[in-house]
Amino acid sequence: MDCIFCKIIAGIIPSKKLYEDDLAYAFADIDPKAPVHLLIVPKKHIPSLAEIDTADIALLGNLHAVAKKLAAEQNLSGGYRTVVNTGADGGQTVHHLHVHLLGGRPMHWPPG
Ligand code: 5GP
Ligand code: ZN
Repeated sequence: MDCIFCKIIAGIIPSKKLYEDDLAYAFADIDPKAPVHLLIVPKKHIPSLAEIDTADIALLGNLHAVAKKLAAEQNLSGGYRTVVNTGADGGQTVHHLHVHLLGGRPMHWPPG
């Protein structure tokens, strides 16, 4: 298991856990880019959005349902941004699918 996020899910690498269910695990990003910066990951190791299949649709929906729940808990009533970086051009650095949940300040568009 040579994956940082699999090790976080397994508790081998410590994290600030905010949520866990059968399909997903959520924790604080180690290098936050906004006052609230959480990562929501599937417990199943999927390298990126480019490698999902139809059996993963429930898992993917759940990641966004968790984002909504955490945004409410973090009082992001003014809005927030969810981001999924995919591949080298997408800026993905950890190759375990994850949804960034960013909030607590106005976001800019377009992103860099
Ligand atoms: P990506 O660039 O792949 O979309 O995002 C990877 C994210 O994982 C980055 O925001 C980075 O700060 C975060 N990250 C990388 N390693 C660790 C770690 O060991 N612990 C935590 N909590 N976050 C990490
Ligand atoms: Zn993994």
